[in-house]
Order: sequence, then structure tokens, then C-alpha cells
Amino acid sequence: MNNSPYYYNPGRCVVCRQPGTRRLPGDDPYCGQPVCSLSLRQSPNAQRCRICRCILRPAEKGRGICDEPQCVIRDGARTAEVQRKAQQRHVRQLIKEHVHTFAEQSGVSPDTVLNAVVPANDNQLLPIEETRKKRFISHLNNQLDGARRLLADNKAPALDDAEDGPELRRALSVCAACRGGCCMTGGEHGYITPETIARYVALSGQPLDTLVEHYIERLPNTSYTNSCIFHGSLGCGLDRAMRSDTCNKHLCAGLEGLKARLREREGEAIVVIGTQNQRHVRTVIIESTTSP
Ligand code: SF4
Ligand code: SF4
Ligand SMILES: [Zn+2]
Ligand SMILES: [Zn+2]
Repeated sequence: MNNSPYYYNPGRCVVCRQPGTRRLPGDDPYCGQPVCSLSLRQSPNAQRCRICRCILRPAEKGRGICDEPQCVIRDGARTAEVQRKAQQRHVRQLIKEHVHTFAEQSGVSPDTVLNAVVPANDNQLLPIEETRKKRFISHLNNQLDGARRLLADNKAPALDDAEDGPELRRALSVCAACRGGCCMTGGEHGYITPETIARYVALSGQPLDTLVEHYIERLPNTSYTNSCIFHGSLGCGLDRAMRSDTCNKHLCAGLEGLKARLREREGEAIVVIGTQNQRHVRTVIIESTTSP
């Protein structure tokens, strides 16, 4: 019996792949034809599909699985799981190494040090290309009608009061060390929606006709490649009031976890480990706020 969670028994002979539920020694399903049982006995070490255990045809041997769609799907899931586990091991190892190094250097116990693993930004800063700017302007123009309607219907949303507190403020100091890893999906839209614009217009009194120019003024001189157009060396070029709710409310998984731990262990030093595609980018220490 194969106990792998990815094992799949399609109820067909492992040799000829015809339907068959009879069992050969080793629990292999087979069709019952003597020729198949003989073939299996003659080549006990034939290469098998790693998912359904059928004997592979020459063209299938390279990838190690047969052509059965279920095997292809399950093998994809298995590979993803293997990669996920390797990544978890890698992250655990990084935490161990970096927390221990810091603890040793500071003469404290590693148990008194917090850690956060965040998707650090390591991209290059470059002047914003005209094509990017044009895409952003076009995105903004496409939001104006919707914003106008919201304003006319008095449905401009209010600016959500940010959740505040020492643990959140301390957790957010990690973002500076990370340099905006989560902004990399902001592209030329920055998550700005009609709601963002209507909210900002209602709040600031900025006329809608000059809104595009007003946003353009906030573009940084240089922006990170493959990231949001507003993502510059000093962080986001937009004030909180001009930013989307998506941006204002987002905390990555590493930061969410840290925030929860900070409720109990508020003042402890934080070792921030920034990674990108499993590569270690930088480690930044946020010092303890309690006296030793
Ligand atoms: S929320 Fe997470 S990914 Fe985004 S800037 Fe902060 S630490 Fe980095
Ligand atoms: S608008 Fe600001 S916070 Fe939002 S993705 Fe762009 S740089 Fe990041
Ligand atoms: Zn058979
Ligand atoms: Zn198979």
C-alpha cells in the first residue's frame, strides 16, 4: 500500500494501462492478462510513474510521470509542496542564523529576540519613463467618472481611521527596513480607484479637474523598477489621504505575525530578515526599546 498523499490509483493495469483491479504482489493493479504479469516479473526494476506507479513508456521516462492527466496534476501539487517545504526550511534556517548572530553579538538570549521575515525590495531606482507616466495618467483618467458619480451621490468614503497603538507603530518600522516589498505589485495604478479619488477630493477640497496634475506632482524623481510608480527612495510618494485603502490597510504576513507577537513582547529587539525569491536580501536590526 502506498501511503504518499499524492499516490493515485487510476484502477488500470500498471503494464498495459487497460482497466484492471486485480492485484499483483506489491498492490499493483493489473488487468489479469498473463502477458502483463510476466512482463512485470521480467522487469522488476522498470521505471514507474511516481504518482500512479504504472510502468513508464520511453517518452515518459524523462519527466518521471505518465501521461494520465491526474498524474500530471498531482505531480504539480507534489512539486509545489516540495518547494514550499524547502522554502520553509530555508526561512527557518535564516531566522536561526541571523537571530543567533545578533543575540551572540549583543549578549542576550535568542529567546528574547523577535523576528520578521518580509519580502524585501532590492530593485533599482531609475527615472520614471514617459511610457509609465502615460499609463498612470490613463489609469487615473479612467477613474474620474466613477469618482464624479460617487461625489454627486454623496457617497465618497471616509478615510478609515488607522488602527493605532505601539505594537502597530513598531511593526511598521519594519517596512522601512523592507523598503516596500509589497509595493512591487502597484505597477502604474497604485491601487487608486474611484473611491480613493472621491475620498481625497471630499477630504481636501482639491477640484477634480486638477486632480491628475496633483497626483503627478507626487511622483518621485526616481522610482523602483518593477514596482509601483510612486515607490521611490523615501517610500511612497503619496500621503495617506491620497493612497488607496488597499495600500493604507495592507500588512504582509510577516508583519501581521510580528504585530501579534508584539502585543506580548512589545520592547524586544526585532531581527528583520528581507528575502526575495528565496534569496536573502538584507537583515536589519530594530533595537530593543527596553533597557537591558
Ligand atoms: S507590509 Fe511587509 S512587505 Fe510591505 S513594506 Fe511592510 S514589511 Fe515590507
Ligand atoms: S501607492 Fe504607495 S503604498 Fe501603494 S503600492 Fe504604490 S508606493 Fe506602495
Ligand atoms: Zn495489463
Ligand atoms: Zn501515472
